[in-house]
Parts: sequence; structure tokens; C-alpha cells
Amino acid sequence: MTFQDELVLWYNNNKRDLPWRNTTDAYLIWLSEIILQQTRVEQGLPYFYRFAEKYPNVTRFAAAHEDDILKLWQGLGYYSRGRNMLKTARLIQEQYNGVFPTGYDELIKLKGIGEYTAAAISSFSANEARAVVDGNVYRVIARYFGIDDAINSTTGKKKFQAIANDLLNQQNPALHNQAMMEFGAMVCKPKNPACGICPVRTGCYAFINNATTTLPVKINKVKIRARFFNYFLFTDGETVLMNKRDENDIWANMYDLPLIETLFAVTLDELMALPETVTVFGKNPVVIDSLVPKKHVLTHQHLHVRFIKIAQKPIKLKPKWIFIEVINLKKLPLPKVIFIFLDNFLN
Ligand code: SF4
Repeated sequence: MTFQDELVLWYNNNKRDLPWRNTTDAYLIWLSEIILQQTRVEQGLPYFYRFAEKYPNVTRFAAAHEDDILKLWQGLGYYSRGRNMLKTARLIQEQYNGVFPTGYDELIKLKGIGEYTAAAISSFSANEARAVVDGNVYRVIARYFGIDDAINSTTGKKKFQAIANDLLNQQNPALHNQAMMEFGAMVCKPKNPACGICPVRTGCYAFINNATTTLPVKINKVKIRARFFNYFLFTDGETVLMNKRDENDIWANMYDLPLIETLFAVTLDELMALPETVTVFGKNPVVIDSLVPKKHVLTHQHLHVRFIKIAQKPIKLKPKWIFIEVINLKKLPLPKVIFIFLDNFLN
């Protein structure tokens, strides 16, 4: 039996029952694929159900308000995914009359849909013969065939795609792709792969050569940026002063609190003496409470977040600062760190 046939046999006996596997609706498959980018299945599953229930088709999604999408997305991170989905849904509504395309060549032109997602949607919805190469597939190929090219290098990507194309079952690409991905997720896992029960271990390079911890190879290109966020909470009990974030930064268009960002860590006294702080909050505003800065880790940024509760209203409001009634706060799309703080502080 070939490597691919072994995986399909394993898949038919062991696959998880996931809702997007029981449909060929390109819209629902798109929804699941975008939600599952950078997200584990267990975490993404409830979001998939919520979105599918509230927006059962692309027409309903396209008609949503951005705030509602971001609110439903809250806690999932990488919020640009939600915003890009809305743009894509609106474009499909306009250009395709609300019929979600299923062909790779049309899908690849849409915002937020790259090669992987286009291959996945076209394969799972229309059985188009496209090899899907996600992180699971990279790992399985690297280990089984002993490929040590970096999976995030240009030459590496081409090589892995070529191998995946060669392996693809042209008669049943959807089943083949699902089997490869599920096998990577459930057996050939990133840490502690289940080699002991693996049906293809006798032919596996990494198993034979004890190389499961060194394959796949990835070049670490990402530079982590440290940022220092000093948030100010002002509330009169009925309302809270909030800030709508800009388009071109993390948490775009979501809501946080009035923020003074510094280039490095500063003490509370230094912060309160900064010209920017004095301009908006006045000299020596009464500080009711100041929490110790805590590190909040994003993929490319480490945020050092501090909250300061002040007693009096700022003397100058910035353009995007807005008073929101306390009872309406939970309706706003909030970054998780803000949501948790407000939830603890105001309840
Ligand atoms: Fe992956 Fe281990 Fe199976 Fe090789 S033997 S394919 S490393 S699970």
C-alpha cells in the first residue's frame, strides 16, 4: 500500500467529526478555514458555530456591521482576518451575486485568501485537484521524506508544494487532502508525534533516523517588537471613556481605553510628567489606582500593558475618545486584555 493510501485508510477509521467536513458549501468551508488559521480546532469550533448560526450564508455576512463581526471574533486574535472576511463577503455579494466561488483561480484573487485557503476551498467544495499544504502537511512531508529545506523559505515552499502535488490523488483530492491534514494534526503532531501507533513508521525517515524533533526546519525571521501601553481608565460610574483604535495598527477598529504609548518602560511619575500626559490629563491628576504592568504576548509584539485609574475627566479629549455607557461596554469589540481588565474592574 502506498503512503497516501495508508493515510486515507487511517483517516477513514480515525477522523474527527467536524462540521465543515460534512458540507461542500464553499462559504462554510471558507469560514472554517479562516477561523482555523493560527487557531486550534478546539478553540475555533465554538466560533465557527456562532458565525454559521448568525451568518448562515455570504449574503448575510456581507450585510453585517464591522463592529458585529469584530465582536463575534473577540478572543480569537488576528482580528484582520475578520475584517478581511467582511471585505471579501461584500465583494462576493457584489461581483458574484452572493454565490461563493469554488474555483481556485477565482478564489486566489480574493482578499485574505492565499494559496493554501484557495486550494482547501476548491478541493473540499468542488473536489478540484489541488494539493493543500498547511502546517500539518509540511510537517508530515518533512518527516516522512526527510526534507530539511526550511518550510518558510521560498525554495522550501516550492519543494514541499511539488511533493504534495505528486502525492495528490487526482481522483479524490478532497479525501486525500483531509487525510494528510488530519494525520498531521492527530498523529504526526508538532511535539511528541505518536510514532508508536503510526501506520507509516516503517518508511518514515524521521522515525528511522530519530529526527522527529529536528524536522521540519523553520527559519526564525520574525523580530519581536516590545511596546509599552499605558491605559487610563476614567469612569463617572455611568460611562467609561473609551478609544476607537486606528485602521493601521493591531486591534484595528476595535475599542480600547485612552492610551499613552511610550518607547520604553517608565515609572508612574515619569509617565504623569510626560508632555503628552499633561496635555490631556493636566498636571498631577489624581490617580486612584495603578496596576503593575503585565506582559501580553502577541505573535510579533510583546505588549507591556499597565492600567491607571484616574479621578478626574481629562482636560482635552482626543478625536477618537468617546464616552460609552457601562451597560453598553460588552457590546463593543474589545481586545481580550481590555475585556478582561474591564470585566474585573467594573464588576
Ligand atoms: Fe510522523 Fe512519527 Fe509517523 Fe514519521 S513515524 S510520519 S514522524 S508520526
